[in-house]
Amino acid sequence: MSEEQRKVSGSSPGSTSKIMNVDRILNSESYDWHQSMDITPSDFPYLQQLLEESFQEWKRDSSGLQMILQSDWAIVGPNGEWVTGDPKLQKYLWIKDDATLRRTLELQAVTIGLSEEVSGVRTICATPIVSRIHHDVFAVLISAAPSHIDSEQIQFMTESAAVMLRSCFYRRFERIFVEDMAKIHEQAQREASRRSNLFHYVKRMHAQNNVDGVLTEVLDSVHGLYPYANVHLFMSQDHQSSHPLVKPLLLHHWQEEVYVRTFMEGSLTVCDDTEQADNMVEIGVPVGGKQGVYGVLHLQVEQAQLSDMDLELLGMMADAAGTAFENAKLYEQSNLMIHELRMINELTQQLNKSLQLSDIYQFANEELLKILTAEYCCILSYNEELGGLEVVSCNASNLEKEVFEKNYGLGGHVFHSKEPLFMADYSVERPADSKLMESTGSNSMIATPLIVNGEVRGVILLTHRNRHYFSYDNYRLLQALTSHIGLAVGNASLHAEVRWMANRDMLTELYARHYLDEAIHECQSRDFCGSLIVVDIDQFKQVNDTFGHQRGDKILKQVSGIVKTSIRQSDIAARWGGEELAVYLPGLGIEQALQVAERIRIRVAEETEPRVTVSCGISEWNWMHDRVSVESLFYRADMALYDAKNSGRNRIVIERTEVCE
Ligand code: GH3
Ligand code: MG
Ligand code: MG
Repeated sequence: MSEEQRKVSGSSPGSTSKIMNVDRILNSESYDWHQSMDITPSDFPYLQQLLEESFQEWKRDSSGLQMILQSDWAIVGPNGEWVTGDPKLQKYLWIKDDATLRRTLELQAVTIGLSEEVSGVRTICATPIVSRIHHDVFAVLISAAPSHIDSEQIQFMTESAAVMLRSCFYRRFERIFVEDMAKIHEQAQREASRRSNLFHYVKRMHAQNNVDGVLTEVLDSVHGLYPYANVHLFMSQDHQSSHPLVKPLLLHHWQEEVYVRTFMEGSLTVCDDTEQADNMVEIGVPVGGKQGVYGVLHLQVEQAQLSDMDLELLGMMADAAGTAFENAKLYEQSNLMIHELRMINELTQQLNKSLQLSDIYQFANEELLKILTAEYCCILSYNEELGGLEVVSCNASNLEKEVFEKNYGLGGHVFHSKEPLFMADYSVERPADSKLMESTGSNSMIATPLIVNGEVRGVILLTHRNRHYFSYDNYRLLQALTSHIGLAVGNASLHAEVRWMANRDMLTELYARHYLDEAIHECQSRDFCGSLIVVDIDQFKQVNDTFGHQRGDKILKQVSGIVKTSIRQSDIAARWGGEELAVYLPGLGIEQALQVAERIRIRVAEETEPRVTVSCGISEWNWMHDRVSVESLFYRADMALYDAKNSGRNRIVIERTEVCE
């Protein structure tokens, strides 16, 4: 029992031990439980007030009794110490160490004596008052009656008075219990109502699965419980809300605000600034979950309206709010993540539909514009042959197919730094000039390097004309999506490489024979005419014998290189077999083919080291021929080559007759 409760109940400090037994009493089935309550010697030092009040009550109740009025009365404690009564008796007892009283205390029995000290000759009678169960003397009632009254009568009167006084005492004593119990009951009821409020509040809070809903619920609930309080919710930067009572928690090290302190220390803070005349108290309650403190519930309320229990309740409400907030946040985050995963999944599925790099870039461009609601998307890929960043896909048509220096612009910046870029305002932050930004009038950009097999292959840039357009989530999502685009690009590149290898001769890097066969066949079904040159190195066996097979290989490569660089891009050069090469020239007649063959023959004779020469046979076809076939074309070219060999080598023979030197 707190000191405060004692004051409220009006009980003496001595009632502590009794109050402790209240539980026992409440649980007791005995009807007259109060009868079983009693004082013990340990309570004696605290009985002063109770005895005084009981004495006054008894005096009041007995005021009509003549005999009582004729006498002087006093009450003393169990050690003879003065409690209350007629001052004359106090004086007497104090001056005279009264023998009657001493005897009463010693014998614990009624004692009669005579005194002349009080007011004339008086008979003094001292009656012990004993506790009702253990019969411990806890007070002595003393009467000083006129000596003419019979001493037996005096004893009877004093003993009767003592019984009445004891009744008064125990009535008051029992009332203390009842008052304490009423108080406890009231507190329990208040506590129960708080808990029930808390329960409903927690239930409502946890029913919310969006962050704003939780914050609104917190404020509404606190407002419902403390309608007169000035309530705010300060939330840290990441958790802004549209609710007017939710404020951003701005942390400045010089701030001594209660909510800042609460947030920093993570514990309930109460500030009852006594200098404030309005007697208001400021409370900061941290709103936190398992992962940290998200904000502070801040209340300004009149001191009188707030008890320890309220603080406890607020603490529990803020804890529940913190957990609900955290759950809602996790729920929102997982929803966002599911949404992102779905988009990644869709994008990946679409990307995997094609193994053509150009298709992949085009599709990625369209999807990124859609998913990130950007205005422009530009995909750059590093082109080794051109030594620059090539625009492989862009919806700003003026940039299509453009090739930039690899250090140029924002693309070059990202390509070099290998880091993603988040630019909210091009006019303020400008790490590099950008043709994309300038030509499209864009102000915001998110960009990320395109990484293929662990190497930066290019850059993806997304822009919008609005400033501060992209969110941090957009920026993160672009990175996630780009890694999937990188995988698709890697697959397509690998596929292209395998295809390239399947159609090539590894030594000369010219096309393989089967590819040439197929290509000619396709051309014959599509074109009007075409020519075939078969190129054979002269006396190659001798070259091998003289310089060794490896040098022979090198010469074969040199000749292949000359052939490759002597023809158009649309012409197809292949290794026909051994040291024989073949070139198909779509759409060219025999005269033009002759010029090409001659260019090859001269260059080989001039550029090879050790020097070799080649002989060529040429054949042609056109749509007027009776039977057009790849085999016939080859056969005729081969025959011509045979003729060239037989007629001295280092020469070109056109099918059947013509010879050129
Ligand atoms: P010619 O064509 O002028 O009639 O004489 P040749 O010696 O070139 O013709 P032949 O058909 O007798 O010999 C072809 C030689 O080419 C035989 C072979 O050693 C060589 N050869 C074929 N393929 C390769 C190759 O891949 N590497 C090297 N080093 N030699 C090859
Ligand atoms: Mg040969
Ligand atoms: Mg040969």
